[in-house]
Amino acid sequence: MTNKIKSFIIKILVIVVLLIFISPVLMPEIGLSYSGIDRDIQVSEKVVALTFDDGPYPQVTPQILDVLDQYHARATFFMIGERMEQYPEMVKQVANRGHVIANHTYNHPDDLKKLNNKQMENELDKTESVILSLTGQSFYLFRPPRGILNERLIKVINNKNYQIVLWGISADHHDAPTPEMMAARVVKHVHPGEVVLLHDGRFPGRIKDIEATRLILQELSGQGYRFVTLPELILMNEKNKVKDNNKNPLEKQKPLWHNLRYAMAPRYE
Ligand SMILES: [Zn+2]
Repeated sequence: MTNKIKSFIIKILVIVVLLIFISPVLMPEIGLSYSGIDRDIQVSEKVVALTFDDGPYPQVTPQILDVLDQYHARATFFMIGERMEQYPEMVKQVANRGHVIANHTYNHPDDLKKLNNKQMENELDKTESVILSLTGQSFYLFRPPRGILNERLIKVINNKNYQIVLWGISADHHDAPTPEMMAARVVKHVHPGEVVLLHDGRFPGRIKDIEATRLILQELSGQGYRFVTLPELILMNEKNKVKDNNKNPLEKQKPLWHNLRYAMAPRYE
């Protein structure tokens, strides 16, 4: 082998090694919107967090509550600020029946990326004050409409002490047009610590989510699952226990939740 070839091979090797080391640094620039966000919750118990977006809505939300009660299930509702103002009694009822209300923006913009930082802060703040005035507490959980975010917005949201929670499995999917297929989709992919996305926000479009919820609860409780809220799930997350030396992550809600920066990226949209 000539020296020329040897030095060529060495150069290639150096480039390959360099690429391996710097790729994690480059990745966020290449367009991974969710870099630095945890994908999994580690729990030792069979628990699932059902989440309902876009409510409250009078034709759907009360029926979802009744189904949840039948299975002693608790859930998390990512509500839209202006809808909460329209149906304040419904928001109070959801909270009084043991569920958690979380922030899903004030106006539900189609593409949050088009908002500047100030507009994003307004979406968060206005909704938070509605949640606080109706329920007396905020858990600082945020889910962006359609899961759309970028690095800039993640910073704005985290600076407001919010944790971003997306979902592991969406029951609503174009491949699952019936409640039976929606439930089958969830049951097929579920594992302990899963976050499931459903909707209670539109009539008649979301009416099928009522029956899908019932089928999911029926099947998964048969498999020994329990249904918890997101704050409960976050408390159970083994990763949090390691990070916080067994401190209760809800004790000093704001700063701790900020430090945890827990969020979840969709695996089965
Ligand atoms: Zn939504």
